[in-house]
Amino acid sequence: MRIFKFGGASVKDAEGVRRVASIVNHFSEEDIFIVVSAMGKTTNALEGLVQAFIASNAEACRGQFKTIKEAHLKTITELFPSGDATLEEEIEELFRQLDTILNAPPVGSFNQVYDQIVSFGELLSTKIVSAYLKSANFPNRWLDARRLIRTDQNFRAARVNWNYTRRLVQENVRPGNSYITQGFIAGDDNFKTTTLGREGSDYTASVLAYVLQAQELTIWKDVPGVLNGDPKVFEKTELLKKISYREAIELAFYGASVIHPKTIQPLQERGVPLRVRSFADLELEGTVIGEGVQLEPFMPCFIRKEKQQLISLATRDLAFIAEDHLSKIYKLFHQYGLRVNLSQHAATSSSFCVNDDPIASPALLEQLKQSFDVSVVGDLDLFTVRHYNQEAIAEIQARGRKLVEQVTMDTYQIVIRN
Ligand code: ASP
Ligand code: MG
Repeated sequence: MRIFKFGGASVKDAEGVRRVASIVNHFSEEDIFIVVSAMGKTTNALEGLVQAFIASNAEACRGQFKTIKEAHLKTITELFPSGDATLEEEIEELFRQLDTILNAPPVGSFNQVYDQIVSFGELLSTKIVSAYLKSANFPNRWLDARRLIRTDQNFRAARVNWNYTRRLVQENVRPGNSYITQGFIAGDDNFKTTTLGREGSDYTASVLAYVLQAQELTIWKDVPGVLNGDPKVFEKTELLKKISYREAIELAFYGASVIHPKTIQPLQERGVPLRVRSFADLELEGTVIGEGVQLEPFMPCFIRKEKQQLISLATRDLAFIAEDHLSKIYKLFHQYGLRVNLSQHAATSSSFCVNDDPIASPALLEQLKQSFDVSVVGDLDLFTVRHYNQEAIAEIQARGRKLVEQVTMDTYQIVIRN
């Protein structure tokens, strides 16, 4: 079985859905399991709806609901000019369910409410794509990911229960069929909807590839594959043809956003190759992430992380910063959910580059000030160059004033103020 994942951008409108049909029809001899995200920016719109709902802002709720509904109905009208009664009824039913949630008091924590509402994006998109594929001669079964991917109750960042999930998939998936399900959403033991974290559809596809021991996972994108840098940030980017699992995990760790960091590990464990390829051009082979060669062609890879802050801590009594201080400091970072992207230590002081989080950062700084002299510089960029050379370093250094720099065998990092 092949797993295909289509992200929000590839199903953002009727034209996108038609293209999905032409792609899967290309592979009609094979069993395909299709994982789809919410259409376009639907998840953002649904997040807006959650906020309006929690704030009891009925007017904003109605407005947001209407916008989301109209966008989906428009796509359906374009895809089915003479109508599709079954689909229309299913879509009406989903909007009725959403409306019922919005017309009752919120149930449970904010995160629980969030998951119950935001999950509608993927339910809607998969109903539409499934119906269209059927009409385009691609028979498929629609599966409810809430009954397929079982997680714990950690709403908004749920963790997969692998044993249950394996059993559910085995019960539902039979050879000789093609399937379609929702990315990003799942269900807990009480059949409450959970989600796997923003941009989590890649991870859903990876979980299914693992459980089904798929032949390949293909992520269809609006770019020709994985490039050696984000073309919006770096000039002259080039396509990487092959990346090893380990290198892909490293790139994701430093902030490369093409692949969701959690996606690679299950694939590696089962040896399932991941191909990232263009939905606009079936001639292009894209990038394969798999066993073997680290990087082909071998070249520097560039990553930028924006909105960083540099927190420097010094002991008040000139005591050495030792392991006990550091373990306390790291515990605080962890407690406030702030990941340390780079750190540097001297005898009586240490610096940490972390994401500037408007809520967590001020609270953390208050805590740190109780034990240390603290200074903070904000609005910084952290650049990482894997497999650097002199030319690559010079290009990055020219981008601003250097605050901290760190060099290892294969990675160069620099914190810069523009
Ligand atoms: N629709 C979800 C999001 O936008 C999941 C995904 O796209 O992967 O975050
Ligand atoms: Mg999305």
